[in-house]
Amino acid sequence: MINFQNVINDIHNNLKSSENRGVVASYIPELEKQSAKSFGIFLKPINGENCHVGDWNTPFSIQSISKVLALSKAIVFENNKVWQRVDVEPSGNPFNHLSLLELEKGIPRNPLINAGAIVIADILVTHLKHPKQDFLDYVRNIAGDHTINYNLDVAKSEQNTGFKNFAAAHLLKSFKNLNNDVDTVLDFYFHQCALELNCKQLANAFYLFANAGKCINNKQHLSLIQVKRINAIMLTCGFYDEAGEFAFEVGLPGKSGVGGGIVALLPSNFVIVTWSPGLNAKGNSLLGMQALEQFTTKTKRSIF
Ligand code: GLN
Repeated sequence: MINFQNVINDIHNNLKSSENRGVVASYIPELEKQSAKSFGIFLKPINGENCHVGDWNTPFSIQSISKVLALSKAIVFENNKVWQRVDVEPSGNPFNHLSLLELEKGIPRNPLINAGAIVIADILVTHLKHPKQDFLDYVRNIAGDHTINYNLDVAKSEQNTGFKNFAAAHLLKSFKNLNNDVDTVLDFYFHQCALELNCKQLANAFYLFANAGKCINNKQHLSLIQVKRINAIMLTCGFYDEAGEFAFEVGLPGKSGVGGGIVALLPSNFVIVTWSPGLNAKGNSLLGMQALEQFTTKTKRSIF
């Protein structure tokens, strides 16, 4: 029997004094306030005790990790119709890349790059009566935690500087792949990205993807086939132009965000969350990638 707490303690010890911690995101000015020294890990097994170490209890901006939660809600509304407006192929490009979108006539490569996530946001704005409040309630619900909230300063900060997202949304609109107006959709998208959760809350929110669609309160939110598809998209597209590297090093479906969080999971086994705000050149948490590589190597738990 593996002692998971000892494993994550060892990994935290190995990495916590690392000199090379990457660079904290600054293109959203509010994110630059995060300390590159923060480092936390939280492991939630499907059966068994939670384990945690370091700064697992500090809320951070989940940014692109929210795209998976938004997708899971959009799929409940539109099921397979979603795939008429967004594809499921890895893009091999950075998260905010635009030229493929033009070439491919406004159909984003997948729902986890920004353009794809903006289409998903459009779907939610269409279906939800009070989009920001209703989406927040959904996340609170699946995480079983009603203290979760948006960080309004982060949302505003991206609203002021998210020029490439405005460009993506206008391009989508020009190809008739955005039904609502650009400002409304982006206001929703910037709030979605500005959700603040700690490692434990995030592990709880993602529990349903490791538990055949049932959230921590045992409510069935997604069918098995929907969970299979979302996990496949995380594996192939969750780390943008580093998705291959993440599969190669870690071997789990997962999703990163420029706030420095990474969620990864092994279906029917566990959800693991790391948070360290320093990013590598591809915009993924540098220590988080290393910690997860060590985790799956030491425990021999990966989908491969
Ligand atoms: N809100 C960020 C953006 O749109 C999310 C990017 C990310 O986390 N990779 O640029």
